[in-house]
Formats: sequence, structure tokens, C-alpha cells
Amino acid sequence: MADKVNLLGLPRGKLQAFFVEMGEKPYRASQVMKWVYHDGVDDFEAMTDIAKRLRARLREVAEIRAPEFGVGHRATDGVVKWLAHLDGGQAVETVLIPDRGRNTLCISSQVGCMLDCSFCATGKQGFNGNLSRAEIVGQVWRAERELAARGDRRGITNVVFMGMGEPLLNFEPVMDAADVFMDDLAFGLSKRRVTVSTAGIVPRIYDMGMRTDASLAVSLHAARDDLRNELVPVNRKYPIADLLAACRHYLQDIGERRTVTIEYTLIEGVNDGSDDARGLARLLAGLRCKINLIPFNPFPDDAHAYRRPSAARIASFQTQLQSAGFAAMLRTTRGDSVKAACGQLTGSVRDRTRRRQRYLARTGNGAVAMEEAPA
Ligand code: SAH
Repeated sequence: MADKVNLLGLPRGKLQAFFVEMGEKPYRASQVMKWVYHDGVDDFEAMTDIAKRLRARLREVAEIRAPEFGVGHRATDGVVKWLAHLDGGQAVETVLIPDRGRNTLCISSQVGCMLDCSFCATGKQGFNGNLSRAEIVGQVWRAERELAARGDRRGITNVVFMGMGEPLLNFEPVMDAADVFMDDLAFGLSKRRVTVSTAGIVPRIYDMGMRTDASLAVSLHAARDDLRNELVPVNRKYPIADLLAACRHYLQDIGERRTVTIEYTLIEGVNDGSDDARGLARLLAGLRCKINLIPFNPFPDDAHAYRRPSAARIASFQTQLQSAGFAAMLRTTRGDSVKAACGQLTGSVRDRTRRRQRYLARTGNGAVAMEEAPA
């Protein structure tokens, strides 16, 4: 099976180029895309409006292949978590969050993560590579098949890059995937329903402005550099002032009445005080943004022993921001019962650095967060 080209996730222009290179007309791209994304077909043979000879050639040189999903783990609140099996035995997690007429899919872009934010389970397992665009788009394609099999005709209505990994460190595949999510010949989602969430890779935010008009979310978590350096170590390289300048620039690029989402995970006694709220309000003054407050979700082997603040404390943080004129929403914790909440995703990652194994050996704690064995 010598290196077939996986056509899944190729944006329209690149798929047209593929056909032109084969000596075919570019409109073949539209035909194939409709089959793949609107009809869920992954076998060229079933694409009956394409000549038999071309179908046969396609089968020789190309494929449509999404990662396989393991058994879905359904949480008590309807959230479903799947392990998406990648080539090479690695797996990442994909989470479906149904909510009042919406089906939001939270997808992964990397196997593990390099950024090692202090409060995130994914970062604790190290990094073991980037997902291909077929593996990124394939999560949405596969989830749509799952929904269709259950008779849910709505399909996926929103996609957020808030699963495992830092999407802007896997830039081209993530941008290609965003193109496909927003293309009418594929998933046809509006730019407001495709959100790239970043810990703040500043130069890539500028690149993003030239490449897409998808929505941007930024994981801020602290209003001061000294604290953010601790929580989000990449802040040492790209401090808060640079990050917010990049956000403003992005808003200029995408124009109209768009906003950035500021994500802020609330951790008791760390960043949840009224000083923190005041600092945040001062910092964000004048930025077109919405603030998304995320109560900290605990995970095994958290060396910091972080805690979620009380409901009262969370509410007063939110009120303080609202009184300062901000749209500050509380992101309800979903999927907790299957460890599918923000920051709890671990997949099945082989960490080249063996950091996780060393940690487990040191603590004698054999409990592993993942719920399925590697493929
Ligand atoms: N790398 C991207 C996507 C990460 S996950 C980014 O940093 O934005 C999406 C959100 O979940 C981020 O805002 C992240 O900071 C947050 N998060 C991570 N761990 C968490 C935890 N244990 N509890 C609550 N939120 C968490």
C-alpha cells in the first residue's frame, strides 16, 4: 500500500490541484467532496457520477481514511468521548458536547502537547507529534457518521480546537482543516462556529489573520506576567502585552463585529481573587472580547494539587467582570464523569521523554487517566 494520498481534509483548492495533476478537470474535486462530506462516503467505487476508469485510478493512488473511533464513553450529562486511533498506535481524544440544539465537537490537533501548562493533564504526558489534516478533519467526519448512525440529522454544528495539543504549533494542517470545516462543499460551518484556541503562539496569530477568518480563543488565565509565566510557561516567550496586541491585530484582519474569546481557568487561591478580576478587567479594557470562565477540572497526578474555587467565589469573580462591562460567561463543566472535561484529555500517548512513567514510578501511583488501552 505504497503511500496513497489521503484526500480527507484536503481543502478545495488543493484537491483541485490534485486532480489537475492527474490530468483531470478541477470540478472533480467538488464531486468527490460532496460524496465524502455530504454523503459520508469513503469508497471511490460508490461515487457513481465519476467514470469507472477514474474511480479505478483513484483507488490505486488515493484513499479517504479517517481515524477509527474506539467505543464512545457517554457521560451522565450526554457528553461523549471517543479515543481516535491514529497511525502508529497513538490515540487522541475527541469530545462531543450536545447542548440545546447544538452539537459541538472538541477536537485534538496534536498527540500530547509541548507547552506544559501547569493545570492541564495533556501537558503532563509530553508531546509525541502532530496530527495530519486527515486526522484532524477525520475526527469531525467520524463523529458525523456516529451521529448519523444514531439518527441525529443535525450533525456537528460547531467545532472547537480545544482538545489535546496546541493548534497553532501544527499550523498548516489546522488551517487546512478550518478551511474544510467552513467550506459549503464539506461541513459548511460559519466562521463563528469554528474556533481555534491557543495558549498564545503570537507569531502564528498574525499568520492566522492572513490565512483564515475562523474565530480565535486565547487561553489567558492570568492578568500578570509573573503569574502567567507559572501557569502558561510559553508566556516567557510571548508575554501578555504581545499576546493582546496580536489579538487586536487579528480582529482588524477579520473585521466586522467579531470578538475574541478570552479563556480563564479559575484555580482556587491562584488566580481567582478580586484583585485578579480587577487586573483582568483593566487589562482587557477596549478589547472586543468575551470572557469564558472555566472552573478548574481536577485530574490524576496533579503535582500542584490545584482546586476548583467554590461556586460563590466563581460567581463573585464573574460578577466583578460583568460589573466592569464585560460579557463573562461561565463554562459549565461537562463530561466530568468520563474525564472529558477541559484539561482532562490524555488519549494514549507514547511520551518519548518518559516523563509520565518516571512520575508514576516516583509516586507509586499506578492509576492512569486513560480508559482504553492503545490499539
Ligand atoms: N492549547 C490550546 C487548547 C487547549 S484546551 C489552548 O491552550 O488554548 C482548551 C482550554 O482548556 C484552554 O483554555 C485550557 O487552558 C483549558 N484547560 C486546560 N486544563 C484545564 C483544567 N484542568 N481545567 C480547566 N480548564 C483547563
